[in-house]
Amino acid sequence: MWHIGDIKKYERCDKLMWLSNREPQPFIPYIFYNESIYELSKKRLNITEFLEGNRNDGNDVFFNHQEAYETFINIRFEYESLRVKVPILQRVGNTYIIYFLFSSCSPKEGEAQSFADTIWVLNKLGLTVSNVYAIHLNTDYVRKDELDVTELLKINTHLFNDKNHKGRSIETLIQLFYRDVSLVLKEMNVTFKLENIEKKRTNVCTRRNKCNYFNTCFKIEEKDTSIMNLVSCSKKFALFEQGVHDIKDVDIESIEGTCHQLAQILAARSQELFFDTYAVESFFNSVTYPISYLDFEWETYAFPPYEGMKPYSVLTFQYSLHIEDNDNHLVHKEYLGRQDCREQFIVKLIEDVPSEGTIMCFNVEGAEKLRLKQLAKQFPKYENQLKQIWDRMLDLSIPFSTGLIYDNRMAGTYNLKKLVSIFTDYNYSDLEISHGMDAVRIYRTSDNSTIEQEQVLKELLAYCGMDTYAEYLIYHFIQNKIKELG
Ligand code: SF4
Repeated sequence: MWHIGDIKKYERCDKLMWLSNREPQPFIPYIFYNESIYELSKKRLNITEFLEGNRNDGNDVFFNHQEAYETFINIRFEYESLRVKVPILQRVGNTYIIYFLFSSCSPKEGEAQSFADTIWVLNKLGLTVSNVYAIHLNTDYVRKDELDVTELLKINTHLFNDKNHKGRSIETLIQLFYRDVSLVLKEMNVTFKLENIEKKRTNVCTRRNKCNYFNTCFKIEEKDTSIMNLVSCSKKFALFEQGVHDIKDVDIESIEGTCHQLAQILAARSQELFFDTYAVESFFNSVTYPISYLDFEWETYAFPPYEGMKPYSVLTFQYSLHIEDNDNHLVHKEYLGRQDCREQFIVKLIEDVPSEGTIMCFNVEGAEKLRLKQLAKQFPKYENQLKQIWDRMLDLSIPFSTGLIYDNRMAGTYNLKKLVSIFTDYNYSDLEISHGMDAVRIYRTSDNSTIEQEQVLKELLAYCGMDTYAEYLIYHFIQNKIKELG
């Protein structure tokens, strides 16, 4: 039996559908879906009486109650080998209205393919769909005291384009995408029976989110200097096809020729660290003591949990701060809050961060600075003090992200964990929590109640503390290198 999700996978990549049915992988969302879109939509539409479907229901569940109810939630239908779940189905006379639900702000036009395929199943079973709506989050909604579902949820007759602007109407898109799904199902059946599917790596494998099966498909260890690791290179697949497999063999004239790419080529050819001493030294010229090494952990909530938050707002719940004075003495401070700890976080941060000196972070604009600006918006009375902090931030990742420093072992990436393992003897793997997402997941599920969770919180603190200590080590590695080469 196939589901709409299988068709979506198949149309992205036949092997993705093939693998995900043979070796299913758990889905770990980056976002915390802290409310049920079904429950909120029921409130939004004032639905109180309904029949709710279950996982293994057949068509009989609907058809046995077709006249007894006007509204059906999560009701299942099957036709040929396709099984669909309709989030909200409402009977109006002899026809039906469907509401498709999204816990996102701008459902894309491409979703209409699933709408059309679902309607195909219903049509085959003799049901006529007169209207289709998308219920989604309102990106401009700011929560007050209570969650206001009328303001939070929009009911739309159109979808959105790739730039999140208003796209075509759902009606137009369904007409465009409506098809005989049995042809796709037949192809899927044939594909699924194959013993193996050989695939070449393409941008489908890494577009948006890297495919979960990337390591399964491309088990053969890629060399660090594989052309696939050449950053921001639109021609790498074509070059690979032409037999250029190693970065050292790339002609810089034949690609975009960025500084980062040049650093990679030079490092691959020399088999040595590429280090632009002059540029790196200039970059850190403005550093003053005390140096604060700062790192935050946060959670992204799909539905705003507290006043002043919008859909997909983040709640920054933890920081680690290592402070290094002129004599290289290192002091560690930290904070870990629970529930709505935003104001407490701000007050403690302002108290802990020295009033002068450089504040070193890794990925300033996309992380710590952004988080402080969001907090300043939610708590304007602290804006000046927070600005005083973000104005002194220096991004330790820039020498690596721009190719001022490149080691072949970086293999085209530059996250803090990787850098610290390449350039120092330091290791995160001794910790129970050794990945940022592990930290966030544990925060999601923990409360104040058990000893085990107290242990988990200690691990969270240790994880965040490791990041700032790693920043300190990386900064000193760079300073030592400047001295050595200068
Ligand atoms: S890694 Fe690429 S080839 Fe493999 S399943 Fe994913 S998208 Fe398909």
